[in-house]
Amino acid sequence: MTAQIIDGKAFAATVREKVAGHVTRLKEENGITPGLAVVLVGEDPASQVYVRSKGKQTVEVGMNSFEHKLDADTSEADLLALVDQLNNDPTVHGILVQLPLPKHLNEDLVINSISPEKDVDGFHISNVGLLGTGQKSMVPCTPLGSLMMLRDHHGSLSGLDAVVIGRSNIVGKPMAQLLLGDSCTVTIAHSRTKDLADVVRRADIVVAAVGRPEMVPGDWIKPGATVIDVGINRIEREGKNVLVGDVDFASAKDVAGAITPVPGGVGPMTIACLLANTVTACCRANGLSEPEGLTA
Ligand code: NAD
Repeated sequence: MTAQIIDGKAFAATVREKVAGHVTRLKEENGITPGLAVVLVGEDPASQVYVRSKGKQTVEVGMNSFEHKLDADTSEADLLALVDQLNNDPTVHGILVQLPLPKHLNEDLVINSISPEKDVDGFHISNVGLLGTGQKSMVPCTPLGSLMMLRDHHGSLSGLDAVVIGRSNIVGKPMAQLLLGDSCTVTIAHSRTKDLADVVRRADIVVAAVGRPEMVPGDWIKPGATVIDVGINRIEREGKNVLVGDVDFASAKDVAGAITPVPGGVGPMTIACLLANTVTACCRANGLSEPEGLTA
């Protein structure tokens, strides 16, 4: 058996198309242009790449992009003042502070200073609590994108056994909450889980978010299961620098029913969902009905 490959790149393009449609409608019918502000502190090369593609894709769907680049030695007070200014700016509907921040800045403090309604990354403690209690919130982009692909593939997820490997606040925990919200029976596995292989073998849905190259071999996967590989790991293979996931794609694709590749799976969905969250935030801020299919 060969798994269906879930094409995240194509899926992300359809999400961006939907977002662009809503942006057009907001401009034409309401005279509002959704705006996303991205704050980058310092010169981390990976962060610079992310911020650049976020800005580019924001403009491509017709939204306003506001980029704020601050020096690595920016004080906490100055960063908080900028966030406060963006919180109070009615043309800004989404605010994203690119992580990681330089060591002298308190990430929790900065994230929790963003207005929860504009927290398009979904990391504010209020959004975490709202998601945990099944209320309307801003949902972290990577888990939201993973959920969209799972819903698209399965229709209903109700009653399915889901195993999430990884318990980070950014991916693992919100992913587990979303799956629970869709009535899966959810297990969160992590670095101290005993008999991980046996735990994974029970799953109809496996979400791997660990950051260890190809750690999940095909023989851990239940035949026909759906595999969402969140991991992005850069390794050397045959003298080349390549990206691989947390799942051993070569062996897993012969067992799984469906699987996301790396690259081209979850990765492209993350920025698409950031744009989706920004449109959602804009609609909510203006008391308009939310775009369908773009929220959890
Ligand atoms: P993290 O380091 O914060 O968390 C990793 C988790 O894996 C931890 O909870 C830990 O308990 C668990 N873990 C570590 N070793 C383990 C083991 N041997 N067995 C089982 N569990 C183990 O990482 P993160 O931020 O959640 O990211 C995870 C991966 O997803 C990384 O590769 C990251 O690059 C990738 N990622 C991708 C996207 C995307 O857009 N596709 C977004 C965010 C993260």
